Amino acid sequence: MGIDASVLDRSVGDLARLVQSGEVSAVEVTRAAIDRIEARDPALGAFLTVQADEAIAAARAVDDKRARGEALGKLAGVPIGLKDALCTRDAPTTSGSKILTRRARPGEPDLDPARGFRPPYDAHVVERLRAADAVLPGKCNMDELAMGSSNENSAFFPVKNPWDLTRAPGGSSGGSAVAVAAGMTPAALGSDTGGSIRQPAAFTGTVGIKPTYGRVSRYGLIAFASSLDQVGSFARDVRGAARVLEVVAGRDGRDATSLDAPVDGYEAACGRDVRGLRVGVPEEYFAEGLDPAVAASVRSAIDGLRGLGCTVEPVHLPHTRYAVAAYYVVATAECSSNLARFDGVRFGLRVPGRDLGAMYDATRGAGFGREVKRRILLGTYVLSSGYYDAYYLRAQKVRTLVRRDFEDAFRSVDVIATPVTPTVAFPLGEKVDDPLAMYLADVYTLPASLAGLPAISVPCAPVSPGGGGAPLPVGLHLVAPPLHEARLCAVAHAWEQISPARGLVPPGLP
Ligand code: GLN
Repeated sequence: MGIDASVLDRSVGDLARLVQSGEVSAVEVTRAAIDRIEARDPALGAFLTVQADEAIAAARAVDDKRARGEALGKLAGVPIGLKDALCTRDAPTTSGSKILTRRARPGEPDLDPARGFRPPYDAHVVERLRAADAVLPGKCNMDELAMGSSNENSAFFPVKNPWDLTRAPGGSSGGSAVAVAAGMTPAALGSDTGGSIRQPAAFTGTVGIKPTYGRVSRYGLIAFASSLDQVGSFARDVRGAARVLEVVAGRDGRDATSLDAPVDGYEAACGRDVRGLRVGVPEEYFAEGLDPAVAASVRSAIDGLRGLGCTVEPVHLPHTRYAVAAYYVVATAECSSNLARFDGVRFGLRVPGRDLGAMYDATRGAGFGREVKRRILLGTYVLSSGYYDAYYLRAQKVRTLVRRDFEDAFRSVDVIATPVTPTVAFPLGEKVDDPLAMYLADVYTLPASLAGLPAISVPCAPVSPGGGGAPLPVGLHLVAPPLHEARLCAVAHAWEQISPARGLVPPGLP
């Protein structure tokens, strides 16, 4: 028996409640999600693989649990999309790369994510979602190994922005953002190293939270830059993203950087009074390069916070201008080391060669895309003797200065409000051949990443792109001191209630 697919448009909390009370079954909700993916995703490309049978079986187990009278978890029957950088036991996990995808046999299509590496274990966050009775219908498209800001670096196919199919959804977690924006799953997980949750959330009109570094275990997340990588959540509203984050956050002994601190009630913080909260606005973020219409949208959101009783004051983050350079040294250095494991010996692709060295060369040459190779080269260079002090060490010093800027600012304010991105979603193809332009567009998300701080993107007034056209989403970026995710949720939720973007969804979805 089918149910109305619009059940997927309910909030995460409503959906879980409906399943917990038995008003709808987890199987029905899961079928609806799979039907929607079948109907909507061919035009969007948000999913690399769909695990329909496994998801239905998991949903059935949830329904059986209810039938036995057992209490269901906080995400009962809620379909959640997973960025393909997260390991899922026995299910294809490619991280958007050929290097984790076995070659086709003769006669088969050349590149198929369904032939991706099948990990023998679940990522920590995947275990947590299953334990909360969520269902996991599929793996979301992404920039290869999480490197990129447009999803065009996926080794398989780009993701399209449901607000305008000619535009990028952002990256690297673009598939997760689009799964949510297009109503295929009510929530999704992504990872954010330098903006990969917040920027696609901004471009697609969804809510995306990057927690404090160490708040969520990285166990089973395919590493890009280990000192920056964090898993976080997407949903259509702040409450939904907060609930999912609450489920996946917390100490895990398998990640040495996992923090041993209690997990606050992020969802409970939604609705909390924000009167008297001090909002800092760094003028460095409203400078050259910022589209005036985006600036106006973000400033009017900040005025909205003032109207809610927050005080707004200027703060200074003087080292902001060095953050892009420092990030692209630190991140490339770490990725050059992390990606050494993809050698054709243990997993994924192997291209034979006449000896071991030739096999490594052939495998890595065929397996990695251009952007990944560029970064491995850059990272190897900045770590090499003679250049280590000049680049890597210096970048680490800049990182400390960026962190101190925030520490100073947070002495006088509770949260910092900025744009997420300098423009609305840019056209596919616009920046893909100009890596520097792509890197520079990360200017507002990188500093919080370097400082390890929690941050959220929440939709504010949409604006028309330069040259006209239908309005596109814009994100308000809120940054808080370490472990203050609950405060972020409170402020973002308060704004969401009065945001002109409230309730807007992409037009024309089938
Ligand atoms: N766009 C940034 C990069 O390309 C951030 C990516 C990310 O956060 N994974 O590195």
